[in-house]
Amino acid sequence: MENNFWAKIEKGIRGFFSRHGYTCDGCEAEIFDYPHRRLCADCEQKMERTGENFCPKCGRKKVADGVCTDCKGNLPKFTRGFSPFVYREQVAAMVNRMKNGNPHLALYFGEQMAEYFAEKYLKNCADSEELILVPVPLHKSKRIERGYNQSERLAESICERLQALGYSARVETDLLQKRKETAPQKQMTYRERMENVAGAYHVHKRKECKGKTILLIDDVLTTGATSSECAARLFGAGAKEVYFLVAAALLERR
Ligand SMILES: [Zn+2]
Ligand SMILES: [Zn+2]
Repeated sequence: MENNFWAKIEKGIRGFFSRHGYTCDGCEAEIFDYPHRRLCADCEQKMERTGENFCPKCGRKKVADGVCTDCKGNLPKFTRGFSPFVYREQVAAMVNRMKNGNPHLALYFGEQMAEYFAEKYLKNCADSEELILVPVPLHKSKRIERGYNQSERLAESICERLQALGYSARVETDLLQKRKETAPQKQMTYRERMENVAGAYHVHKRKECKGKTILLIDDVLTTGATSSECAARLFGAGAKEVYFLVAAALLERR
């Protein structure tokens, strides 16, 4: 039900702006080839991309060779992670807007994430088995408070773009559930985060998970505690592989 509510608001806002031509999802400047391009040239140029030097395990941008310092400390339980953007400045502002009242930004991020994942991983895969996209869930009360789960919005957008690129993919929103409310993690260390998320996630549809290649979706990679915990649950329910795709990742800790 809350989905419909937000869909209507979004449609209303889009309708209003479309009367004035199409506008940039970042700054509302007019652009003429929307939705082929969702950001104006200025906004696009301010989006910091991960580039070629990224951690082979978690996917974050890093400075030295080998896995990043975060992974050296605590190797995440997912198979491999991918992140098209670096979480700071313009990217951080856009991600935060996506989470706090501007869910339509998930269209831009989702498309970028799908293209990045296809480029960095899928195009080199010999077999083309179906990908099950699993958004990191919010606790029910948090979802009601926010009105939507940004990871679900991302997953829907990613799925659409992957299918358009010729890959087989579908979204499973209820496969993974968050059963326990967790404390805000912003000021927590990795160890505190691991304790905070332990037992919080639960695989609800185990037979949908068994033997499948899962693509876990989230908005931001910080320490990797949440994604690692989710991946552990998915592997526990028999997932074949768990890849992790995130809109933006914090830089390597130094
Ligand atoms: Zn702009
Ligand atoms: Zn790493």
